[in-house]
Amino acid sequence: VIELTEVRREFAAQPPVRALDGVSLRVLSGDYLAVMGPSGSGKSTLLNVLGLLDRPSSGSYRLDGVETTALKDGARTRLRGDRIGFVFQSFHLLAHRSVVENVMLAELYGRSGRAGRRERALAALERVGLGHRTGFAPGRLSGGERQRTAIARALMGEPALLLCDEPTGNLDSRNTEAVLDLFAELREQGMTIVVITHEQGVSARARRRVRITDGVLVEA
Ligand code: ATP
Ligand code: MG
Repeated sequence: VIELTEVRREFAAQPPVRALDGVSLRVLSGDYLAVMGPSGSGKSTLLNVLGLLDRPSSGSYRLDGVETTALKDGARTRLRGDRIGFVFQSFHLLAHRSVVENVMLAELYGRSGRAGRRERALAALERVGLGHRTGFAPGRLSGGERQRTAIARALMGEPALLLCDEPTGNLDSRNTEAVLDLFAELREQGMTIVVITHEQGVSARARRRVRITDGVLVEA
């Protein structure tokens, strides 16, 4: 469960930028939330705060009952690794590694051995419907298959929360549908999903929609 209370995030500039201006938001476990809003409105800043990549300037962020703003960097990093997966507009795949090796990179610094990592990567690829593409080079995949590879990589840590910043921004409509079908499936399996999007077709598939304008969030 995500609970943001009166979250502000200001960036030093002349004059200062108030990227988040008193945002309060509750997202229950298993919910599917779409975040919309114009360019520069604070969407990525919100996602970075939710993902423990950035700290609010003030306000509270409780994740599953833990007040995260008080945690030290190490504890925040561990909590992020345990709970949160990220999906971005660009897929960030290594061209000279196979699909399964790209997914295995999620645990490059983990403690488990290579065989265990490979097994979990193959299971994650099955889960996103890419069991038949594990040996391919990313260059031979469609855009949707590349994004599903990136999603498999995000699933490696078995996150309860998936945070997505314009996940379909580089995809045509057919590949967009494939990724949205996958999100629907993950949600049925109990995952909490937050998707930033400009696309009506993407937000329409979420269970709930909010809009940000100039750092202020309202239910849509
Ligand atoms: P887009 O749709 O273009 O991705 P966005 O809604 O994701 O936009 P943010 O990236 O959250 O917007 O930025 C919100 C505001 O905060 C913008 O005015 C931006 O210039 C400013 N901003 C974001 N990050 C920083 C930073 N590190 N330093 C200074 N200003 C920043
Ligand atoms: Mg952004």
